[in-house]
This record gives sequence, structure tokens and C-alpha cells, in this order.
Amino acid sequence: MTTVLGCIADDFTGATDLAGLLARSGVRVSLRIGVPSEPPQDTGPFEVIALKSRTAPVHEAVAETRAALAWLRAAGAQRFFWKYCSTFDSTEDGNIGPVAEALMDDLGTEQTIYCPAFPENGRSIFMGNLFVGQQPLAESPMKDHPLTPMRDSNLMRLLSPQVTRPVGLADRLTVARGAPALRARLDALKEEGVAHVVVDAVADEDLTIIAQACRDMPLMTGGSAVAMPLPALYLADGTLPAGATKGQTPDIARETIVLSGSCSAMTNAQVAAYIAQGAPAYQLDPLTLSQTGAAPVLDWIAAQDLGAAPLVYATADAQSVKSAQEALGVVQAGVLVEQTLAACAVAARDAGARRVIVAGGETSGAVTQALGVTQLDIGAEIAPGVPWTFCRSGGHQIALTLKSGNFGAPTFFRDAQDRLDAL
Ligand code: ADP
Repeated sequence: MTTVLGCIADDFTGATDLAGLLARSGVRVSLRIGVPSEPPQDTGPFEVIALKSRTAPVHEAVAETRAALAWLRAAGAQRFFWKYCSTFDSTEDGNIGPVAEALMDDLGTEQTIYCPAFPENGRSIFMGNLFVGQQPLAESPMKDHPLTPMRDSNLMRLLSPQVTRPVGLADRLTVARGAPALRARLDALKEEGVAHVVVDAVADEDLTIIAQACRDMPLMTGGSAVAMPLPALYLADGTLPAGATKGQTPDIARETIVLSGSCSAMTNAQVAAYIAQGAPAYQLDPLTLSQTGAAPVLDWIAAQDLGAAPLVYATADAQSVKSAQEALGVVQAGVLVEQTLAACAVAARDAGARRVIVAGGETSGAVTQALGVTQLDIGAEIAPGVPWTFCRSGGHQIALTLKSGNFGAPTFFRDAQDRLDAL
């Protein structure tokens, strides 16, 4: 099917977040990890390409994103969405503006919008200033982010040094007057030569109005939430045929492996809850791993009944993580754990596991790579922002869910299995 909306996300969990929100409407959404090396084939109405460019130097991010755009155009898309973080993770030499400008040049379009708001998750924009909950961005914990410390909350000021053309604002008072008023404001700004327009949004209603006003722009940019109303709008006016809705959920065997490499507070609670429910569990300790290698855990998996959905976890509290990092080095400890969990995923799949539940953003990257997964079809949501996905690995169809750090309820590992059983 011709692709109606081509989306490019600057990181992997951002791509799953966007794909999950688009799929809420019931349309088919396909996610690809990196720019596919093959020309488009069997594409869906909504294609999302996940890049790893959030903190990449400008020239690299621009080149990668343009390659993604070219692939999506070859798939037939005429409208595009550039997705970045709802905290606009991008400092003065960040790449959000340069990437948007390069995409605009390739598409020959004079104007785009910037709307990272995600009211459901506490991200709102008022008078061009981004808030995280009740705090301005620059007073939120984002001010101390290790890679992208955000020291200004004003999106126009953040964007201006990154782009060559003028930056402007369509404020909340305009948005509140509805889609035609917003459209008129955007047109007036275009007359003045304003190419980059920050658009205020403090509630979901604002996002619907923005989507209505901007749905036919060649390029929209923002967080995932402003894209969420688009499928329903395209279905309503026939841009998207009614048959674009998802097919049947595939029947996937019950053998399951749960792999947890996240050390977030929520994942610690989820691991504890799952063990308390009596799940078979194996704890990975990075120090022991550095001496024994993966053999003991792989032997353990081989001896398991995968019907009981065993758990392998490196999840630990902050103190244990710190001492492992001091002994092995931060990167080394992380890589050791990620590679071991990735090897566990392959071993479990080869032993018959067809449902794979993964906790941790980096861990998810390592697992998908080891499983050779490059394309996922988005299925039912287990928790906000965490869908089941269906993909092929080692000649088998498998169900895979990838949960980043703080997502999901404490009962997530069980919830995921129940959700798939209920489909
Ligand atoms: P999150 O989504 O919570 O950030 P990630 O998987 O992205 O989770 O990051 C967690 C990182 O911590 C990974 O690199 C993982 O390998 C590493 N890690 C997991 N357990 C431990 C541990 N016990 N000691 C040190 N590092 C660990």
C-alpha cells in the first residue's frame, strides 16, 4: 500500500512511542530500525523509521535523515513527520533545526511547525516556552542531562541559532480559536518569510486543532503526540482507505522469555513483582559475568520450561550498579550485560520462545540487533507507549515488546502476557 505518512524518529524508543500512538487509531503501522538497505516493498500506510541521531553531529544526522526521507518518498509518501523528544533535547549545536531545514529543502517546502508538546506526559508549550510538568524546561531535571543539558525553556531561542531562516510563534490564543485561525496565522507568517513556527499546545484539544490545521503540510515536526490525531483525520476524508486498518493479530506460541537490563526504579519494582508471583528467575551479576561469560545463564535457559515465561535480569539498585561500574567501567559493565541478554534472546528463540519481553532502551537495541529484527508491525498497547510488536527472527514469526526504563505498571511482565493472550 502507498505510504500516506512517512515518519522519521531520532531514536528507537521515540520511534516505538510514535508508532504506538499512531496505531491507537487501528491503522497498520510499520516500524523500521535504521534506513532499510532494500528499496520499499510491502509498505504500510504509516511507516516509521527509527534512527539513532539524537546526539549525532549535525552533518551525520542530516545525512541519515535525508536518506530516510528518500526511502519514504520512494514508498510513495507525500507528507512527512520528523519526531524528536518532547523535551526538545537539542542544545545550540543540536541537530533538530538543521535536520528540519534539510528536509524542507529536499521537499521544496517553505514552512514547518515545531510542537514537542505531550500533555498526557506533562509536556506543554505556552508562549513558545516548554514546560515539564509545572516546571519550565530549564528548571526541570533536564537542565542537568548528561548529553543535552537544557538551559533555556524558550523554543524560539533554542531553534534560532540552529537554522538559517526566521523563527516565529503561533501562540495558544490562536490555537484556541481553532484550525482555520491557526491556518491563517501560519499563512500570515509565511508571507513574512517565517519558515520555522513554534506552535503552543497545553492540552490534547490543542493537538487535534494543530493536526487539523497542518495535516496537509509536506513536513510537520514535533513530539509523538501531535501526530496522534492524523490517522483518524486521514481516514475520515478518504486520504486513507478504510481497509488500512490492522489485520488479524497473528497466533503466536506461548513460549516466552523475559529479559530485563533496565535499572530504573519502575523496572526494579516490575522485576520484584514478577519474582514475587513465582516466576522462574536468573539474576545476572556483571562481576560474575566478567569471569564466567554467558555459559551459565545459557545453560539455565536450556533447562527451563519456556511455557513458564522465565526471567533473566541484570536489574539492580543504584548501589549495586555503581559498584559494578566502579569495578568494570560504566561502558564495559553496560555492554557486558547488554550482550549477555542479547545472547539469551537468541538462545531462547532457538529453544522455542516466540514471545520476547525486553525492559531497557539500550537493552532493546542490543536484543533487536542480535535477533536480526529490522522491521516490526505495531500491535496492541500493553501500557501507554509500550505496544506488542510482531516481527520475523531466525525464520520465525515472533512477538516482541520493548519497554524503556520507567514505562509500564509494576505488573508489566505479567500484563504483557495477559494482553497477548486476550487478543
Ligand atoms: P533504561 O531504559 O532504563 O535506560 P537501558 O537498557 O537503556 O535501560 O540502560 C540500562 C543500562 O544499564 C544498560 O547498558 C545495561 O546493560 C546496564 N546495566 C544493567 N544492569 C546493570 C548492572 N547490574 N550493573 C551495571 N550496569 C547494568
